[in-house]
Amino acid sequence: MARRRTFAIISHPDAGKTTLTEKFLLFGGAIQMAGQVRAKGEARRTRSDFMAMEKDRGISVSASAMSFDFERGDTNYRFNLVDTPGHSDFSEDTYRTLTAVDAAVMVIDGAKGVESQTQKLFEVCRMRDLPILTFCNKMDRESRDVFEIIDEIQENLAIDVTPASWPIGVGRDFVGCYDILRDRLELMDRADRNKVAESIEINGLDDPKLAQHVPAELLDKLREDLEMVRELMPPLDHALMAEGSLTPIWFGSAINSFGVKELMAGIAEFGPEPQIQQAEPRQILPEETKVSGFVFKVQANMDPKHRDRVAFVRLASGHFERGMKLTHVRTKKPMAISSPVMFLASDRELAEEAWAGDIIGIPNHGQLRIGDTLTEGEAIRVTGIPSFAPELLQGVRAGDPLKAKHLEKALMQFAEEGAAKVFKPAIGSGFVVGVVGQLQFEVLASRIELEYGLPVRFEASQFTSARWVNGARQAVDKFAEANKQHIAHDHDGDIVYLTRLQWDIDRVDRDYPDVTLTATKEMM
Ligand code: GDP
Repeated sequence: MARRRTFAIISHPDAGKTTLTEKFLLFGGAIQMAGQVRAKGEARRTRSDFMAMEKDRGISVSASAMSFDFERGDTNYRFNLVDTPGHSDFSEDTYRTLTAVDAAVMVIDGAKGVESQTQKLFEVCRMRDLPILTFCNKMDRESRDVFEIIDEIQENLAIDVTPASWPIGVGRDFVGCYDILRDRLELMDRADRNKVAESIEINGLDDPKLAQHVPAELLDKLREDLEMVRELMPPLDHALMAEGSLTPIWFGSAINSFGVKELMAGIAEFGPEPQIQQAEPRQILPEETKVSGFVFKVQANMDPKHRDRVAFVRLASGHFERGMKLTHVRTKKPMAISSPVMFLASDRELAEEAWAGDIIGIPNHGQLRIGDTLTEGEAIRVTGIPSFAPELLQGVRAGDPLKAKHLEKALMQFAEEGAAKVFKPAIGSGFVVGVVGQLQFEVLASRIELEYGLPVRFEASQFTSARWVNGARQAVDKFAEANKQHIAHDHDGDIVYLTRLQWDIDRVDRDYPDVTLTATKEMM
């Protein structure tokens, strides 16, 4: 268990997340040669992306997990990399993905620094105080001044930065890095992109070996830089890193396989190992012997031929073995987990066993929903997996009115999967669908057509905001009765208030002190 490292990569599109993932898998022994992760032909994505839509658009819509091993010294680590959707339209999905990891690797482009999407994803990590390891990529190209990049991270993200390595030269003159943590010189091989850098042990900055490998003017600059680093930057402090207020930064070039091993060693060393899981009525410790886990993601129709659904479960404790019977806490029903899968780089494989920190996929017919907890019997419920109020609402209609029932089924499925919010208004027919970003409507329309053979039309809705209605049963019912034209039910049957005016929401707050409107709902 302590050797598990479960993390996600966050980055702005094009910073190099796919390339880095590919090199992780290469060094993790999961693939023989880099390039294999990419789909053949025109589409250039990792295998963690499933849908044709994603390939068309070059964006990653769904999150999934990949496992691979990393050896360091005598220890074999199991890395679980959870893929986050890169597009800003899918932030809710991203948020939930990040509830399943213990750390995040933040990739930034050395020429661009902190970009908008980096910033957004970072904010999400911050909400959970996740430890962050930073990789500054593309150092083989003209990049910005290193001190300037570090300053920008500190200023824009309000996190302290401590260099774990230091680049020598820039762009065409980039020769490699000085490994500050281990006092080694890492030299990049431009000739072979898959080759691991030559690593030379250095005995302090006066070691004559340095001059053999680094041109004099670059060496002077390196000594000067490291002097400044020592004076100006905080040392690596494990506790500060663990609480997310300090990030170590490595410099490298993912495409040249450079700096990747050092980053992986950093993940192994600083981890952290699987953490305590917040739950009710008590928290779950990873070292507990009984198995528990929670669903953070549901993906339907991963294989259109099978119409299966896979619930991605993060194990919070225990040693899971295939065939185990677990209790589905929400329904109190037992579930035999007979064909759990793990995603070992390229293919899904049966998971014979798994430990706290691992991610397993459980095929099911819809019983498992986001936020559900599985245990060996104890009524315990994992908390902190929110559902956000959608920011965009549209009405939806089946192209063929006779297919309305089919449409309802498709919509409910996407709602349970967490791909959209579906509201059934108390008055009238039809549905209101809510999403976080416009692109999701297109993805939904395309999936409903692809997976259900149903052409659909999204159209403007009279509502623009949705809020969950909370309060004592009687008060909520009374409120719903008096505001019927604004009331709808979500797929769980919970009552939702729809409106187009902030003024309405303020009015409810004023006129109905015994109900509250909220923009998030805890999934359960
Ligand atoms: P993603 O959108 O974050 O997944 O980025 P990709 O991994 O697809 O990389 C975006 C582009 O940057 C691709 O053309 C890569 O070949 C290129 N790239 C990735 N890493 C490096 C690097 O270290 N140096 C250079 N020069 N290009 C890189």
